[in-house]
Amino acid sequence: MIPIAKPYLNTDDAQAAYDTILTGWITQGPRVLEFEEKFAKYVGSKHAVAVSNCTTALHLAMLVAGIKEGDEVICPSMSYIATANSIKYVGAIPVFAEVGEDYNIDAKHAESLITNKTKAILIVHQIGFPADIDAFKALCTKHNLVLIEDAACAAGSSYKGKKIGSHSDLVCFSFHPRKVISTGDGGMITTNNPEYDHRLRLLRQHGMSVNDRVRHNSSKVIFEDHLEVGYNYRMTDIQAAVGIKQLEKLDWIVEERRKIAMYYLDKLKDIPNIRLPKENEHIHTNFQSFCIYLKSACKISRNELMQKLLDDGIASRRGVMCTHRETAYKNECKDLQLPISENLQDNSIVIPLYIPMSTEEINEVVSKLTFYLAE
Ligand SMILES: *Cc1c(COP(=O)(O)O)cnc(C)c1O
Repeated sequence: MIPIAKPYLNTDDAQAAYDTILTGWITQGPRVLEFEEKFAKYVGSKHAVAVSNCTTALHLAMLVAGIKEGDEVICPSMSYIATANSIKYVGAIPVFAEVGEDYNIDAKHAESLITNKTKAILIVHQIGFPADIDAFKALCTKHNLVLIEDAACAAGSSYKGKKIGSHSDLVCFSFHPRKVISTGDGGMITTNNPEYDHRLRLLRQHGMSVNDRVRHNSSKVIFEDHLEVGYNYRMTDIQAAVGIKQLEKLDWIVEERRKIAMYYLDKLKDIPNIRLPKENEHIHTNFQSFCIYLKSACKISRNELMQKLLDDGIASRRGVMCTHRETAYKNECKDLQLPISENLQDNSIVIPLYIPMSTEEINEVVSKLTFYLAE
C-alpha cells in the first residue's frame, strides 16, 4: 500500500521527546521558548507564539485582531473547515470568496464582498502554495482591514523571496502530521507586532500575568493574576522539543518534496486533459500536497480514478473541500454558489507525496496514473 502522506520523523526527534520527558519539565516551558525563538528566526519575523494547534492559533488571531460578534471576515470556502470555524468562534460571519485555478482566494472577488461590516480578510496558502499576499495587503490597507494568514500548510514555503511568516502580523501555522513538519499536534503564530505578541501569550494561558517558567526561576515569591478570560491553548515542551528538531530539517524536507514533485511534473506533463500544479515567479512552494485537476474532457471521473488507484494499493484524496457544502454550513449557505470552488473540489485529486518515497513507489504512482488517464 502506498499511503497519501507520512510525517518525516526519525530517532533524532524521538530522542528529543525522550530527553525532555526526563527533565521533568513537560508542559509549556524552556523548550517552547526555544522553539518560538528558532521559528521566528527561521521565518524572519520578530515574534512567534506556540499554541496547541493551528485552529487555536486562528482563534487567537481573531481575538487579537479585535474581530467581534456580527463582524464579517472574508475567507475562501475552499479550505479545511478550521479556517471558517475560527471566524465562528468569535461570533463573526465568514463571507466566502471564490478561488482561482491555484486553489487560492481570488483578490478581485474578495474585494467585491467587502461591506461596512467587513473587519478582516483571512487568506489561506492552500496546500503550501502562497496566495498573492501583496494583493491582499494592498486591499486591506485600502479598506482598513486586518490581514490574517492561514499558513497551516505553508511552513517552509516562500513568497517573493521571503519565507511565509514574515509578510504580515498574524500568520498561523500547523504541525499536524499531514503538514510538512509535525509535533503530533501543534501550532504557531508569527508576528512583528509586540502588542499582538504580548496578548497572544496571555490568551493562550488563561490570561495569566506571570508564566510558569518565570515563576519557577524567580528568587522572590510571585503571585500571578488573571488579567482576562483566556484559554488553555498551550503547546507542551515535549512537542516543542520535537518541533526544534523538525525545524532543523525543514529546508531539507522541502527540497526533497520538491524533487519528487518535479519528477511527477516531468513524467505527467504529456497526459492530456489534466492540469498540473504550477508555480509562478513569486512563489516557492513546499508541495505540502500534489494536487491534479481533471478537466471535463477527461474520460475517467475523479471518483472512479480514486477507486481504481485504491484497488491497486495507492491512496489518494479528493482535493481541498468546500466549507459551504458541509452539513455544518449548508443551511446558512443554501443560496450561495461558488462554481469555480465547487468544480475544483469535484474534479481534483491529491496523489501520494512523502519522504522518503522510493523510486519504485513514485514510478508506480506515475505508471498507474498514466494508464488510467490515457485517452
Ligand atoms: C490543517 C489545516 C488547519 C488546521 O490545523 P490544525 O493544526 O489541525 O488545527 C487549518 N487550516 C488549513 C488550511 C489546514 O490545512
